[in-house]
Amino acid sequence: TTKLVWLQREFRLSALPTLQAALESPGLVIVVYFHDPKYVIGEANSLWMAHSLKQLQADIKEKGGFLWIVSGDFETQFESLLTKYTIQEVLYSFQVGYPFNSLQDKALEICKKHKVALQPNYSEFLIEPENIHNQQNKPYLVFTPFYKALLAKQTLIMPLQEELEGLERCGQLQPVDQAWLELPLDLQDLMKKPWAKKMMAYWQVGEQAAWQKLNEFIENGVVDYDTDRDFPILNATSGLSPYLHFGEINPRAIYFYLQSLMADGALKAEHAMPWIRQLVWKEFARHLLVHFPQTESEPFQTKYKTMSWQEDLNSYQAWQKGLTGIPIIDAGMRELWETGTMHNRVRMLVASFLTKNLNQHWLQGKAWFDNTLFDADPANNVMGWQWVAGCGVDASPYYRLFNPVTQSIKFDSNGDYIRQWLPELKNLSSKAIHAPWENQNECQLKGVVLGSDYPLPLVDLKQSRSTHLERVAAMKVAV
Ligand code: FAD
Repeated sequence: TTKLVWLQREFRLSALPTLQAALESPGLVIVVYFHDPKYVIGEANSLWMAHSLKQLQADIKEKGGFLWIVSGDFETQFESLLTKYTIQEVLYSFQVGYPFNSLQDKALEICKKHKVALQPNYSEFLIEPENIHNQQNKPYLVFTPFYKALLAKQTLIMPLQEELEGLERCGQLQPVDQAWLELPLDLQDLMKKPWAKKMMAYWQVGEQAAWQKLNEFIENGVVDYDTDRDFPILNATSGLSPYLHFGEINPRAIYFYLQSLMADGALKAEHAMPWIRQLVWKEFARHLLVHFPQTESEPFQTKYKTMSWQEDLNSYQAWQKGLTGIPIIDAGMRELWETGTMHNRVRMLVASFLTKNLNQHWLQGKAWFDNTLFDADPANNVMGWQWVAGCGVDASPYYRLFNPVTQSIKFDSNGDYIRQWLPELKNLSSKAIHAPWENQNECQLKGVVLGSDYPLPLVDLKQSRSTHLERVAAMKVAV
């Protein structure tokens, strides 16, 4: 028999039950990634993927096996592989959101047509979505009860076998196309672009790098995570989100690793739990998208369909480029452009500014994040944007409207994060740097010409806030 292990975003060789199951039975095993440029999340995401695939190909080669990367139209290539190699079973890890849902639907159709078994696995979840629901047998819509329910059901979190044996058996068949043993040319070209090289200089990709990052975080960061994680200059979070998105490290493997450290006394629960809680946000986002797939492009709260958003290309582009004139917003957007990531607190602020001060549609913001974030993830990104825009599941009793200047003073009090990304403001005092337009004398003194060295604010924060609230009120009336 020949089995096909279809990888979508599980770019690792340990703790991978699809591969384990295929290797446990006799017969041939083909491990494949299908690269169809029509089904991508965004450019930065594709860049990370290219590096990740290259690393995985090297890792499996070192173990004596081969990863095939089959490029071209997904349906054509998937079907042709099934028939050419008389595949009896396809094993895959279930993924949520676009493009995975589309690919999984197509794979199902093709497998049905050829009477090939298609076997999903839920290894990328801590717990299968159908195993967590509230007392009314419905999905949780609020995070804290979800988190508590998950902790109460920890026995359902199944360990994954860490070391897999027999990797040398992977892909030993003669591939139809020798190019499948290399990275596709379009991905090779992407990796050579100057912007790509610049962004990758901040990162090491792959399974080994992911574990190293986790261990460094456990050694140096996790103790202060709860107190420091909201301060963007402190580098106090794990930085693991792209690795998690690409499955270079698995949340269950992390969970059991932390449990073992806690059992040995090497890690205290009071330090580990705040971080595990944050990891469960990712689980929550995925469960939500499984239950409410339409929310990828529609507001969870349907009344938001009547919201009147503004279309203004100039202010959208100023936001994208980090030229809004509000330093904390611009610092975040430039960090994103330079490094492919942005601190969580600042993500909230830039999202709030776009949707609530510039009054632009959250889908516009999500689209930019999809294209520029390495960790751009269908579930996390949509939940983040809907949460900030106010149209997501967790409708708080009060309306969240961040004042970026107050937030900047609170979470970057010295202004060091702003200085890191906006060198044109580096000489301003920690008092003036959060709102230069209110400190024109100091700007003049320090040689910062507002409107030329650095923009004046795109909008008046107070006025735009009340305009937004009027629109929200109008929306409620309209329903
Ligand atoms: P840590 O603080 O070390 O947390 C550990 C892990 O937990 C993260 O790697 C991540 O997988 C998960 N996590 C942490 N916070 C959240 C959260 N709020 N929601 C969901 N999972 C979380 N995260 C993405 O991975 N992809 C996205 O596309 C994405 N888009 C976002 C958009 C907006 C508007 C907002 C407000 C947040 C978004 N987030 C997204 C969540 C969060 O900002 C990042 O996961 C976090 O900044 C990653 O940094 P870290 O790995 O150092 O996180």
